[in-house]
Amino acid sequence: MRIIEDVKLDYKDVLICPKRSTLRSRKDTDIVREFKFKHCKRILKSFPIVAANMDGVGTFSMARAFFPFKMMVALHKYYSIDELKKFFEEIGEKNAQYVFYTTGIADEDFEKMEKFSKKVKKGLLQNICIDVANGYTERFADYVKRVREKFPEALIMAGNVVTGEMVEQLILSGADIVKIGIGPGSACLTRRMTGVGYPQLSAVIECADAAHGMGGRICADGGCEYVGDVVKAIAGGADFVMSGSMFTGHDESEQEIIHKDGKEYMKYFGSSSDEAMKRHYGGTKKYKTSEGREIEVLYRGAVEGRIQELEGGLRSACTYVGAEKLKELTKKTTFIKVNRQLNQLWEK
Ligand code: 5GP
Repeated sequence: MRIIEDVKLDYKDVLICPKRSTLRSRKDTDIVREFKFKHCKRILKSFPIVAANMDGVGTFSMARAFFPFKMMVALHKYYSIDELKKFFEEIGEKNAQYVFYTTGIADEDFEKMEKFSKKVKKGLLQNICIDVANGYTERFADYVKRVREKFPEALIMAGNVVTGEMVEQLILSGADIVKIGIGPGSACLTRRMTGVGYPQLSAVIECADAAHGMGGRICADGGCEYVGDVVKAIAGGADFVMSGSMFTGHDESEQEIIHKDGKEYMKYFGSSSDEAMKRHYGGTKKYKTSEGREIEVLYRGAVEGRIQELEGGLRSACTYVGAEKLKELTKKTTFIKVNRQLNQLWEK
């Protein structure tokens, strides 16, 4: 047994120190980034926020709402090949650059993806998200390799992991973007059920360093409760930020509205929660414990209001530290460690 003595940080443990700036207004900041990748030769211009590949978040409606803002969506895995084909052919190549097709690592997942790629028009399957709860298995890295060999031109995002050596291994296996986060998700019970995890901001900082050193990218996945947390993730080095909770409860979540005590709610549930297992697999398997939970969130109408909040928060943060472009935010950031209990008081 070994103990790491350094205290690792979550988003709530820091604030960003403001700096003298020549920027006159938030409008002067550019929040669309231009990305080059390690394996995929395409150049992507994006406001680098990604809706999570969860039921109730990674939906067709969410993708359509995101296109005008150049934001990205990782579709959930439960659409059929025919539904996916229809959607991709409707949106066309220009919008398809903002959509990830999501796959797990079972043989059936690979077969479904292969079948879909043969059925859909060429040029539409551009991005693939390979998603598992635990990205540390050899089988996972092998699967990433297999997908890279089959789809040499695709933008591949794979995860989740939280340490630099595994980021490097996944980039070498063929990933362009490595997804970072074990346990920070709001509907996640992994830390509670297994004791496993890594404070998210430190994971982002350390993994960004590992990825950028070899031309890779990272996506900070989960744990952003406020827009300020998204800012902190990008300031810490995340190229992309994935969120589920920020985009749930909206019309685009494609969930039923629940009427209770005069208020309106929607269900938000972890991908491995009993609710997800019941909906998509006929129940939780006996040998598995559920590492996800179900929450009822207040219904919040169209997602566009949330997008404007995100754009506004990021522009404002860039102005506070004098970053003309989102890309400069990391370089311009000084984090201040704060007393977490006091910090939580102002959030209330
Ligand atoms: P949030 O934005 O809600 O904080 O986090 C969303 C992220 O939580 C997802 O992108 C995914 O990585 C993670 N997640 C989603 N469902 C589950 C689950 O059932 N269990 C665990 N451990 N993580 C989940």
